[in-house]
Amino acid sequence: MKAKVSAVTKKVERIVAPPPRHWVGDGFDVHGFFPHGPLTGARMSPFFLLDYNALSEFPPREEPFGVGPHPHRGFETVTIAYKGKVEHHDSRGGGGIIGEGDVQWMTAGSGLLHKEYHEQEYNRQGGPFQMVQLWVNLPARYKMTEPKYQAITNAEMARVKLPLGGEVEIIAGEYNGVKGPATTFSPVHLYNLKLKKGETLELDYPAGYTTAILAIEGSAKFNGAETLATDHLALFEREGEHITVTAVEDSVLLVMSGEPLNEPIAQYGPFLMNTQEEIVQAIHDFQSGKFGHLD
Ligand code: MN
Repeated sequence: MKAKVSAVTKKVERIVAPPPRHWVGDGFDVHGFFPHGPLTGARMSPFFLLDYNALSEFPPREEPFGVGPHPHRGFETVTIAYKGKVEHHDSRGGGGIIGEGDVQWMTAGSGLLHKEYHEQEYNRQGGPFQMVQLWVNLPARYKMTEPKYQAITNAEMARVKLPLGGEVEIIAGEYNGVKGPATTFSPVHLYNLKLKKGETLELDYPAGYTTAILAIEGSAKFNGAETLATDHLALFEREGEHITVTAVEDSVLLVMSGEPLNEPIAQYGPFLMNTQEEIVQAIHDFQSGKFGHLD
């Protein structure tokens, strides 16, 4: 991960403005960055979907805001809470709460039903809400793996302190040899860069990796050129290995980088498989109750 003198610059391919928002249930008011337009599932692999609830203010309410029971199969959902709290329950008896700075990494694998809601106390008080949900595709041989959760509190994340007082908060993969706590089924690096104004750091990934950066707060420059504004996404070329990031102001940047799976993609709603036959099977299994039951 150390900058190599010979490393080729990984250039910005495009800066994507936040697409129009849409509601997921009544709890998540998201910009669906991908799959959308040129950011197809194949282009973004091993990632498949990025929904970003940019900073919003929810009013106090008794009835929980959220999205009711729905199935997933064939991939992982990674929920990153920046503001507010969410709670989830699933058909296997699992559940939990993630608060500010925490991450829930759910491997849907062979499938389950779950529901995702604003946490009760937060829901009653209302207030700022900012959240990311990233879908990480599973390699074909792991699509039917046993479902599991990794609840990663902010305190459990690995950290690399930076000279100007910022830090790299590592969720998965590694930065400069420091490894994050999440385990993954294919090579994935996921971290928050919490940078002070003027801070610069170097990112290095193997050529061929899919790499994108979402500006959660503040703004940054890449390779001394393109500027990324708040709530915008930078997609980098697959070619090249090296990115120089400079914070224009105090910033929080979500970095996603991973090795493309290069496998066929078949999607129908909440099912993400390799073939149409597997989608038909998933729908059949869901309709015949194989994903369990959840009120
Ligand atoms: Mn879900």
